[in-house]
Parts: sequence; C-alpha cells; structure tokens
Amino acid sequence: MMMKPHEIIDDIYIVGGPDITDGRDGCVYLIDLGELILIDSGAGWSVDTIISNINILSLDPRKITTILLTHCHIDHIGGAPDFRNRFGSRIYIHELDAPALENGDPVLTAATWYQTDFLPTKVDVKLSSPQGVLTIGGEKIVCLHTPGHTPGSISIYLNRIEKMVLFAQDLHGPLLEEFGSNLSDWNLSTRKLLELDADILCEGHFGIYKTKKAVRNYIISYRRQYGVE
Ligand SMILES: [Zn+2]
Ligand SMILES: [Zn+2]
Repeated sequence: MMMKPHEIIDDIYIVGGPDITDGRDGCVYLIDLGELILIDSGAGWSVDTIISNINILSLDPRKITTILLTHCHIDHIGGAPDFRNRFGSRIYIHELDAPALENGDPVLTAATWYQTDFLPTKVDVKLSSPQGVLTIGGEKIVCLHTPGHTPGSISIYLNRIEKMVLFAQDLHGPLLEEFGSNLSDWNLSTRKLLELDADILCEGHFGIYKTKKAVRNYIISYRRQYGVE
C-alpha cells in the first residue's frame, strides 16, 4: 500500500521513499526553514513524483537550496543531479563519499546493484569530520560524521519544538567490503547516535520512529544483530 507525503513534525516532511514514490528509493525528507533542505534524493526515477509531492504539501520546490546526501549510494543520491539542474540546489556530502559521485563509480555508488549508472556529478560542498553545522533560517542543522556503512556516512539532526529529530539513513547497514564498510567504525557511530538520545528517528528505508524509546530500541536491535551490544 502506498503512503502519502506528510508532515512528521513542525516543518519536517517525508516526500519520497519505498512506500511513497518508488520501491528503489531510500526515504526522502524535506525541512522547511524558509529555504527548503532535501535530505537524500531517491534513486533518480521519481524526481517528478517527489516534486509533485512537494507541491501537494503547498511548498515550492524552487526553494530547495540545499541537498544533504547522507552517503554515496544510488538509492539516496540518484535524483540529486536532476534537482540541482532544475533548481540550482547545492549538493552536500561528506568528503570521504564525494569521490564516488565525482567519478560516477558504479560499485561505490551501488549503481550496478540497481542495474543503472550514475554520471559523474560535481559536489558543491564537501563536509569533513567530525561534524559540520549549517545555519539556515536561524536554525542549526548538524551533520555528524557516522562512518560504518560507508566511510563518509553522515547523520543529521536538528531540534524542532523541543524535540531532537535525527536522520540516520542507512544506519542498519548492510556492512559490505565493496562499500568500504567498517564494523568498528559502525560500532562507535551507533554509540554516538545512542548518546544523542533523539526523540524522532527518520530512517532511510524503514520509515519513522517516534519516541526516545523506539529510537533507542531500533539502534540497539541492529547493534545486537552486528554483535556489538
Ligand atoms: Zn539505502
Ligand atoms: Zn546505503
């Protein structure tokens, strides 16, 4: 059953994902701080649907100034070049995952898995460790380096009406050699994410977890699965 795009909490929306736009898409989130910030961009086939979803929510996709990419996999980055071409949005990704985009690397972007390709794409802003802070519309968005799934994976958080909203897209893995995954990095990263004690987790493929307890249980369940808890 397909879901509709909707508001998660004050000015934060889900506009794409496997249950909303296309089974191949990672979840696509949108933050409205006057300017629009897109978190991930889907696999690339559903850019038009994502745009119409943004319109359905009475937001103007031409205001997308910023695309924050959580890591270099095609299900998250595929739509980004198209958004940049249409709206002049700037692409942000961690410096360790940037070369995969800039070289259009078929393995590191996982494009071969999806039987597609990703054309070499310029990155506008390369984030570096351990964290970057963007101030938009007077609000701070923190991009935390959380390697593990890929070397340049980031998690993003901000506060809305006294709740911490955390975007940790492929926190669940998989951890694969061909992606440059690293279990001990992942162990430290997921520990950092637990310490944040977020109220809401916006995940990359399995949707949204809405209490501190649910967020915690979700992260711990994967730590158990990977044998670090
Ligand atoms: Zn993914
Ligand atoms: Zn991934």
